[in-house]
Amino acid sequence: MPSQILDNALGGVGHTPLIRLDKIAKANDLKCNLLGKVEFMSAGGSVKDRIAKAMVEAAERDGKLIAGKSVVIEPTSGNTGIGLAMACAIKGYSVIITLPNKMSLEKEALLRALGAEVIRTPTEAAWDSPESHIGVANRLQREIPYGIILDQYRNLNNPLAHELTTGPEIIEAVVSTPSTSSRPSTEKVDVMVAGAGTGGTVTGIARAIKKTHNAECTVVAIDPKGSILAQPENLNTANNGEAYIVEGIGYDFVPDVLDRSEVDTWIKTADEESFSAVQALMRSEGLLVGGSSGSALAGALKFLKSDAGKDIANTPGKNVVVLLPDGIRNYMSKPWFLKIAMESEPSPLAHTISKILQTK
Ligand code: PMP
Repeated sequence: MPSQILDNALGGVGHTPLIRLDKIAKANDLKCNLLGKVEFMSAGGSVKDRIAKAMVEAAERDGKLIAGKSVVIEPTSGNTGIGLAMACAIKGYSVIITLPNKMSLEKEALLRALGAEVIRTPTEAAWDSPESHIGVANRLQREIPYGIILDQYRNLNNPLAHELTTGPEIIEAVVSTPSTSSRPSTEKVDVMVAGAGTGGTVTGIARAIKKTHNAECTVVAIDPKGSILAQPENLNTANNGEAYIVEGIGYDFVPDVLDRSEVDTWIKTADEESFSAVQALMRSEGLLVGGSSGSALAGALKFLKSDAGKDIANTPGKNVVVLLPDGIRNYMSKPWFLKIAMESEPSPLAHTISKILQTK
């Protein structure tokens, strides 16, 4: 985080830490370094703050936004909306967010707290139907004076924001942490793992790493079971169209900003493995991450146990970076969170406590 006085909260977007996940690495017998890029520490609480800021600033440069008049309309799974609502609260634009029903109440409350209008849409509506979050946003934009959709699915500033900020931050952290005998490092990003929703995150980071740092880096993208983003196609067929609970990753169409030629390997993840990975990140690493962070970690571990990943897993010093997109703030009331939070092994401490409390 910059150490001078910031003009406003947008100065606190990005600049997130890269944190060692040593206990999870040890529990999974990994010799490589497992590193988490912790995006909930950004000002609006997610990796999507970066693209919201970039899309708004680019539209301002192009003269497309007028303070006091423009109405920014965006279909989102919530986090892009929160970033946009934050930027627009600061800059004086109105905001309407269209949000599929499955997305958490916490996201809606945060959006409303930032002054946005929120319209819920049926989760099961196909992306190109008039009822979907995308369809409703388009209908509103046609009718509302000064309505503008910045369009994270097609806006080149989405992947570009990650190519210019997220990727370089990861590279800088890895390059500037020297290898030591107790903590060997190739001083390169050897594997990059990220989930795909719009695909902007994985595309932009992959471009930054491959163009400027390590052309040999293996880029692993995570797609939930039920979504169709993964390649080869047969990875998707078994669960095509099935509902899943994890928010923010997966789609029923391939967004323009997702460049699948940047991805070396796709891994599919199920809700259950994502949520137990969230529990591990909380209980062993103290990181209060959201559901798709669990998917990214679960996918990374599956890759490292596969034939394609096991040599990397067994090589001390190899750096495997996992992008953790948002925090548990967005999901505190979700049954899956309450379950993993409250679940506990019978512990000697619980026994001691009840003995103490029973004695007069
Ligand atoms: N996780 C969460 C929680 C998200 O909100 C998003 C954004 N949809 C992603 C992952 C995926 O990011 P991207 O859209 O850049 O693929």
